[in-house]
Amino acid sequence: MVRVFTFASGKGGTGKTTVTVNLGTSLALFGRNTYIMDADIGMANLGLAIGLEDVPVTLHEVLAGKANISDAIYEGPGGVKVVPSGISLQGFQQADPEKLRDVLKDLVDRCDFLLIDAPAGISRDGVIPLAVADDVILVVNPELSSIVDALKTKILTEVVGGHVMGVVINRIGLEKPDIVTQKIEKVLGVRVLGVIPEDPNVRRAASSKTPVVIKYPVSGASMAIKKIAAQLAGISFEEARIEMKEGFVDRFAKALFKGKK
Ligand code: ADP
Ligand code: MG
Repeated sequence: MVRVFTFASGKGGTGKTTVTVNLGTSLALFGRNTYIMDADIGMANLGLAIGLEDVPVTLHEVLAGKANISDAIYEGPGGVKVVPSGISLQGFQQADPEKLRDVLKDLVDRCDFLLIDAPAGISRDGVIPLAVADDVILVVNPELSSIVDALKTKILTEVVGGHVMGVVINRIGLEKPDIVTQKIEKVLGVRVLGVIPEDPNVRRAASSKTPVVIKYPVSGASMAIKKIAAQLAGISFEEARIEMKEGFVDRFAKALFKGKK
């Protein structure tokens, strides 16, 4: 059964795109058929994060009724399928966010997991991803302003009929993870799924347009993200590691076979 998760926050820059890309890549590495989609049609940067910024057809063209969703799906790192949004302002103006519901109906038949990177703030195009997902996951930073903004997003999600299932705390530094977790669970009233540390490898990986879980797989951020991905897949971290190993052997064998043809 497909699970659709939307990653949202109040303000921008909390790490939604980073978390969506890296959780999606991790789930794909665990052997799950996973799609990630950039629903931030105004400030698209998911494609940019993995070197898919120059593709000919994006979600913009699909939402403008000019292309089919099948033409806007690209192969991403680790085998994750990617639906990027375009970066042109004109494309944004022509895209009709209301069409997103139909696009999602088409997509869910194809995958185990669909992760949606939502826009920040409370815009019209931002509300639909909150309403259509099975579960919304809030990405917050350990700062009061970020937590308060996330609370607004939680309330908004409930107003539009969506459901917030958890919180990912991103960019934790010197704060004590247990204390921050307690505080956030109390304020937001939802479970913390994981805590990702501030990690310079995230930016380093981003500058080479590769997800950190692939570029620096044992870094602090990568380990934390893979643990969250294992939870979403309903498996233990140990099982996830075995599935990743098997997946690697599988891909290696396929590559070898291809080379011999
Ligand atoms: P959003 O999509 O919410 O606007 P991004 O995922 O684009 O946020 O992240 C904003 C910036 O923060 C990016 O430059 C990203 O590389 C950086 N970043 C995100 N998470 C971390 C982290 N855990 N450690 C260090 N830098 C991070
Ligand atoms: Mg983003």
